[in-house]
Parts: sequence; structure tokens; C-alpha cells
Amino acid sequence: MKLGLVSDVHSNQEALRAVLDELDRRGAEKIVCLGDIVGYGPEPDECVALVRERAAWSLLGNHDAMAVGQAMPEYINLHARRAMEWTRRHLSPESAEYLRGLPFVKRGDGAVFVHSSPRSPADWSYVATLEDVVEISEFFSEPVCFLAHTHRPMLALREGDGRFRILDADRFALKEGERLVVNVGSVGQPRDNDPRATAALFDTESRQVSFVRVPYDVGAVQKKMLERGLPEFLAMRLSRGC
Ligand code: ZN
Repeated sequence: MKLGLVSDVHSNQEALRAVLDELDRRGAEKIVCLGDIVGYGPEPDECVALVRERAAWSLLGNHDAMAVGQAMPEYINLHARRAMEWTRRHLSPESAEYLRGLPFVKRGDGAVFVHSSPRSPADWSYVATLEDVVEISEFFSEPVCFLAHTHRPMLALREGDGRFRILDADRFALKEGERLVVNVGSVGQPRDNDPRATAALFDTESRQVSFVRVPYDVGAVQKKMLERGLPEFLAMRLSRGC
């Protein structure tokens, strides 16, 4: 089965539609979402509706949690806070109810799925470096761990010798005895200096993981953000992908 993985949509409908079209074109049979459907962007309800329509399930992300009334954490910066206040004002009760019901973790198809880290998902820590990967590896037993949250795609492999290394690749087929940590990147606000929307495909039979990068109409999203009073900084960073 070909599984399409999306995450960190961040209320960016244009990017989400572009990614779903590409996943359809590549034969994805099931779509799942690793969270952060809302926050930052101009169309939270549209994105929640599209995820509900197209994804088999979604996880809870930190922005989803903030949007439905969990305390605003100290660590978020001024732009993120302004966007979150906007999101809270504009999110429909129906979307909020859906977000409130989302789980932190899912397991199945030989993988564990989490928004931030399998170590302690409610703490929203980042898995960004090799050290982070090594640290979380004892907190799951499946061959593959899919996560997101950093907005940067990453593949980390543990081979037979037991050591993890970061792979400089955009696809990889897992062999028996190996383990993989996959950061699926961000649909709606990539931060790896490539503005194209990011998603991933996982073939559960061949156990091949590949990243999908899709251009979309960034200008249209920026226009909506500025018209709706969202911070200019957040609109402009979409052009740079950082
Ligand atoms: Zn995010």
C-alpha cells in the first residue's frame, strides 16, 4: 500500500491542494496527516475540512493544540503569537471540535507516527539532529518512525552496526534489520530553504520512503495573509522557504 504523509499544513490551502494532487498522481492509496493543520496561514477552516475529507486520520500538532485553547506557550515568538490569536478568532467551532479530538500518536503499517517526538509527545520537543535521533530511538520499537514539527525533511538510518546516520537522499528503501526515522517536512511552511510544499510517500510493501516536493502559488497565499492582517514576516518567509 502506498501511504501519503502530510504534515505542518499551517492553514495553507494552496500548498495542501498541490501536495494532495501530486500524491494522487503518484498513486497514494491512503493519506495521513501528522498535525499542525492550522496556525500561521490564512485558511484554517478550509485546511481542516480538506484534511477531514482526504486523510484517513490526523495527529495533534502543537499549533492545533494552541488553537483550541491550550495555554499559549512562552516559547512562541511574536509573529507566531499574533497568527495564533488570529487563528483562534477565526476557527469555526466545528473545526475546533475536530482538532480537540486528535491523538498524539498512531501506530500501524510497521511504523509509529507522531508530530514531535515519540519520547514525550506532549512536550513538543524537536527531533532535528543526529543526537536527537539517537535519543528517541529507544522510545519506539517499530522499524520506521515518522515525525515532523521542524519543517525540515530528514532521513536517519540505523544499520546493522547499531549506529544512526543522516542520509543525504530524497528516497530510501529500508532493508531487513534496519530502522529509519523520517521527518516528513512541511506542506505549508517549509524551512529548508526550498519554498516548495513537502510531503512523503511510504510504500508499505517495498518499504521505500520518498520525499515529494511540489511548487504551488505562493503569491496567492501571501496575498490572502496580508489581506487578512496576518504578519508580513510570516507571508514573506514562504517565498524563501525558511
Ligand atoms: Zn509546524
